[in-house]
Amino acid sequence: MAKYIFITGGVVSSVGKGITVASIGTILKSRQITVSVQKLDPYLNVDPGTMSPYQHGEVFVTQDGAETDLDLGNYERFIDVNLTAESNVTTGQIYSAVIANERRGDFLGGTIQVVPHVTTEIKEQFKKLAEKSKARVVIIEVGGTVGDIEGQPFLEAIRQMRNDVGRDNVLYVHVTLLPYLTSTQELKTKPTQHSVNELRRIGIQPDIIICRSDYPISEGIKDKISLFCDVDRQAVIPLPTVDTIYEVPLLLEEEGLGQLVVTKLGLKARKPDLSQWQELVRRIKGPLEPVNIALVGKYVELQDAYFSVREALCHAAFYHNRCLDLHWVHSEELEKDGTDTLLRSAQGIIVPGGFGVRGIEGMVKAASYARNNEIPYLGLCLGMHVMVIELARYAVGSTEANSAEFDASTPYPVIDLLPEQKAIENKGGTMRLGNYPCQLVDGSRAAKAYGQSLVYERHRHRFEFNNEFRDILQKAGMIYSGLSPDGRLVELCELANHPWMVSCQFHPEFSSRPGRPHPLFRDFIGVAKDILREGAQPSLPLSP
Ligand code: GLN
Repeated sequence: MAKYIFITGGVVSSVGKGITVASIGTILKSRQITVSVQKLDPYLNVDPGTMSPYQHGEVFVTQDGAETDLDLGNYERFIDVNLTAESNVTTGQIYSAVIANERRGDFLGGTIQVVPHVTTEIKEQFKKLAEKSKARVVIIEVGGTVGDIEGQPFLEAIRQMRNDVGRDNVLYVHVTLLPYLTSTQELKTKPTQHSVNELRRIGIQPDIIICRSDYPISEGIKDKISLFCDVDRQAVIPLPTVDTIYEVPLLLEEEGLGQLVVTKLGLKARKPDLSQWQELVRRIKGPLEPVNIALVGKYVELQDAYFSVREALCHAAFYHNRCLDLHWVHSEELEKDGTDTLLRSAQGIIVPGGFGVRGIEGMVKAASYARNNEIPYLGLCLGMHVMVIELARYAVGSTEANSAEFDASTPYPVIDLLPEQKAIENKGGTMRLGNYPCQLVDGSRAAKAYGQSLVYERHRHRFEFNNEFRDILQKAGMIYSGLSPDGRLVELCELANHPWMVSCQFHPEFSSRPGRPHPLFRDFIGVAKDILREGAQPSLPLSP
């Protein structure tokens, strides 16, 4: 039977609970313990797929096509697992299931209530993941902060689990923040005490408290938390803010968290091997020359909207012993200010995914700048549409070439809906989602990057390359370097006579790993790093 670790958050949100969860998974995996992870999101949406990136940040797509919370990306990157739809559960999903059961007549005669019907459905989801993944340990993160109204049924469900599966099979970990008061120059524990009280009020006594803070945590503070929150002294784990998130597993291991979890849950474990992480962190912290990349998007005010893209760029930069200097360029600003000032110092340009017409013309300008100035370019999904639109405008000699998403009456719909998408009316979960095969074309840059002929990549889009324009764009220099095995869909395209301008219809950023960058990102940075940037050119020899 699986053992469960439940993680709750206290005091404030955004203290890095997801990274902490991912890191706990990492230190357990380093002991050869199999792990799976689940995120519980207390909002009423069925999934984040229809939410604005400004509300929610990135939507992370699993191989099986679930649109999920961005924390799943951190779990996948840290633990190096491919998760499935079962790893993200929302209140919307739980209530939909309970109400569907009620309509079917499953509870005939009964009054449907939060306890036990909703909590039972929540616990079913824990068990479903445990059975499907066959993991020894299932780590479950409760989204939000203890005390939120929406989170109550989830907390009640995790409380019940201790009785359902037995005390020895359940561990409660609470992640809190210790705020720092500048006037008295001290870290405060009172908010932590309050949030632990709140947990106790509903019947949960944490076994471990992980304390996030921007400053070092003294022994005295640990003693105080141990005393007031009734937690073992060695179970108060400090987690000060660090330069790179990839250092967190090492810090938690140093503080003895791995051994503590193993002992408390009675797990069989090997000696931990975190050498890969040590090597990665050593590399990241070393003095590295930067590689300057411009990310051109319209959600750049909220960098979480591009979480996996930024991480994938970092992985590729580390691989080449560089650090990533990422310039966030707002595509609407590019429309106003022109390309020269905003893109001049970029050694590479990346246009990631997105929806809707706002900011598109700025992205097209960026693609044009990359093509004409021979700057490496990587287009991801929307970034591919933009590259195709830009070349099409040049090829047909008309600025009217466009995607039907942005101009429904364009005479040149170079990007269009597939016939099967045209009849779809519901917005939620109806895009082309998840893994699809892609056959690579020999001799292309894409095939060279992958080093294999058939790959599977994750999708999330409605619009596709319009095959009616294949010939005309090919004549203008486009190479179709990846196609669906039946040849019908363009999955990858690139430009001949350019150092590296490659775009894909899918989202490679989701499958990049810290020690194993995605091949397209790796080669993009590999070429970009050797492009001279503004100010870095060697000075001219003095005239005699
Ligand atoms: N808006 C485009 C589509 O729906 C691209 C989506 C994306 O970039 N993920 O096809």
